[in-house]
Amino acid sequence: TLKLEGKSIVITGAASGIGRASALLFAQEGAKLLLVDRADEVEATASAVRASGGTADARVADVSSEAEVEAFVAAAVSRHGALDGIFANAGISGGVRALDELTAEDWLRVLNVNLIGAFLAVKHAARVMVPAGRGAIVCTASVAGIRSGAGGLPYSASKAGVISLVQTTANQLAGSGVRINAVCPGLIETGMTQAIFDRARERGNEHKIGQLNPLRRSGQAHEIASAAMFLLSDSASYVNGQALAVDGGLTSS
Ligand code: NAD
Repeated sequence: TLKLEGKSIVITGAASGIGRASALLFAQEGAKLLLVDRADEVEATASAVRASGGTADARVADVSSEAEVEAFVAAAVSRHGALDGIFANAGISGGVRALDELTAEDWLRVLNVNLIGAFLAVKHAARVMVPAGRGAIVCTASVAGIRSGAGGLPYSASKAGVISLVQTTANQLAGSGVRINAVCPGLIETGMTQAIFDRARERGNEHKIGQLNPLRRSGQAHEIASAAMFLLSDSASYVNGQALAVDGGLTSS
């Protein structure tokens, strides 16, 4: 049987990378999708899903706008009659600046998308799911939210915030039948990290990227999609409030 058969699911950040790979995988497993991104390319993801026989609509929206989040959640409900899952995955890296150069504006830009954006998705999905007595929420955090790494300071703090959002909300939703978890990717080749991979390839250093990872490689977007699919599916019916690292073992090395 298909793992997400008939489930109405929203994916944010679906124009690229992990969100796009998730759209293709979830649709293959029977989900009916509403794909959201601030980039117009989200239409191309929806077309690719439909071309492979899946069900998907696209919507351009900014996850840091509460009115837009409320509207796309309502659109998923009116299109598919329910909201069974949401993958709050949109995020930005915000670049890496030294402590002394960082400004409050740098922080706000990253927090607005990565943390407030996740919060708004959680809030509006829960408004629909709690009365229904069921639903699953997955947020994309990062290994950068578990331990310090090469990313920017606001980015890492925003992802630690997403983990806290998930743990705290799991308790706030106690008794509702709604589950919430985070997936914490390691280094994955996507639009966000393309420059790192391009630079390494230029220097003939590509093999060095995964060298410190126990699996001796970086990850692929579909490997994160697969973990998100598990957390959204009924196979994860007793998994709640967790931050699942999908990182080749990096955080335990
Ligand atoms: P990506 O840049 O390929 O995709 C992110 C998508 O989010 C883009 O399509 C972008 O347009 C969209 N987006 C950004 N801001 C938005 C907004 N305000 N509203 C709506 N959409 C918005 O990168 P990705 O690697 O696929 O990132 C997906 C998630 O995975 C992010 O939360 C990222 O922080 C997280 N992550 C990525 C890695 C990695 O190595 N690539 C590692 C850990 C965590």
